[in-house]
Amino acid sequence: MKKRRRTEITIETCEVRQIRSGLPAEPLPCPSCGPGVQLVPAEEAARRSQLGLRQLFRLVEAGHVHFVKTSEGQLLICLDSLREV
Ligand SMILES: [Zn+2]
Repeated sequence: MKKRRRTEITIETCEVRQIRSGLPAEPLPCPSCGPGVQLVPAEEAARRSQLGLRQLFRLVEAGHVHFVKTSEGQLLICLDSLREV
């Protein structure tokens, strides 16, 4: 009997973390746009862009929007790049 190899594609779904104390104390500038462009938490960006988190993560994974991952594992999105999508 031949063994059949099955390739499974697992889609990683980002866990929505509970934000402990809201926004970061210091707003981080976007590394691509420079200072003056503020990064907001993914949840906030999803709400403002009315895209929804899933679609937002898709854009992040595709590299269409600028983002920064903090040491705490929080995903921060550049609103300026999101507007251009
Ligand atoms: Zn940016």
